[in-house]
Amino acid sequence: MKIIDGKETSEAIKKEIATEVAALIDAGQRAPHMAAIIVGHDGASETYVASKEKNCRLVGMTSSVYRYEESISERELLSAVEFLNNDPEVDGFIVQLPLPKHINEDKVIAAIRPDKDIDGFHPANMGKLVLGQEAFIPATPCGIMELLKRANIDTVGKHCVVIGRSHIVGTPMALLMSRNEAHANATVTMCHSKTTNLKDLTQQADILIAAVGKPEMVRADMVKDGAVVIDVGVHRLPDSSKPNGFKLVGDVDFASVSKKCSAITPVPGGVGPMTIAALLMNTMKAYRLHTMPSK
Ligand code: NAP
Repeated sequence: MKIIDGKETSEAIKKEIATEVAALIDAGQRAPHMAAIIVGHDGASETYVASKEKNCRLVGMTSSVYRYEESISERELLSAVEFLNNDPEVDGFIVQLPLPKHINEDKVIAAIRPDKDIDGFHPANMGKLVLGQEAFIPATPCGIMELLKRANIDTVGKHCVVIGRSHIVGTPMALLMSRNEAHANATVTMCHSKTTNLKDLTQQADILIAAVGKPEMVRADMVKDGAVVIDVGVHRLPDSSKPNGFKLVGDVDFASVSKKCSAITPVPGGVGPMTIAALLMNTMKAYRLHTMPSK
């Protein structure tokens, strides 16, 4: 059984990006710039944004964070988006989700300039993804595709079962795996909470991608012998034996499934680090788009 090491792969990608950024700066160009808007004080959102800032620094990119109180109005937030849309120094930005209930997320995402939408959530980018056109791809599925490619996982003609159909993970994942491209071309089944025969379907998967949001739900009896398993889930479970009082687990029961599959991503150290690497890749892409329009 092979561990598909997302941490190591993300480090390699970050090194490549750092080299590219250093060369740009040596040539007298400005560094790529990623910005983030964060509303309120949600712990998980703060952690994600801090990690994005830290990783920008590591690869030589600049970053900025725009913080707003939970009470910000939708109109004020739309103005903040417009400000970043018009800032020529900002190559790409994200609006950290979730947003407070009084703000319409769809409206805010639709206000982001598609060529700065490094999260790939704008309807124009989603539409291009469906059409197989060049677009910003949401970071988690983008990172998983890169991970499969770099781990030399054969996807062509394989049956890929995706559990989950969210707009940020499951749906783009299923679309990308079914694309007519060298590192895709899988036959895809997408499952969700109304799927009645989940186990029958997952047992047929050569590649099983779990993006279900339920701790350790995928157990060994759901997995075919020799399958490749990609675990997107991240959950904190209380664990008094750990210094911080919790352990991280995924959507897959790693202990049992790892004995049956041919390759698996661990949690932590699998999909998570690839998500951030993909966001940096998207920022580079936005930078090239703005500074070298022919690329
Ligand atoms: P989500 O929006 O909650 O979507 C979960 C999906 O799973 C939904 O489509 C849901 O179906 C489906 N589902 C729920 N229960 C099911 C069941 N019993 N059988 C089959 N399908 C079921 O979650 P998400 O945002 O896609 O995220 C999924 C997981 O990935 C979460 O654990 C999240 O924390 C993690 N995540 C990790 C990263 C990373 O960087 N590592 C990034 C993003 C997300 P319905 O559509 O019918 O409700």
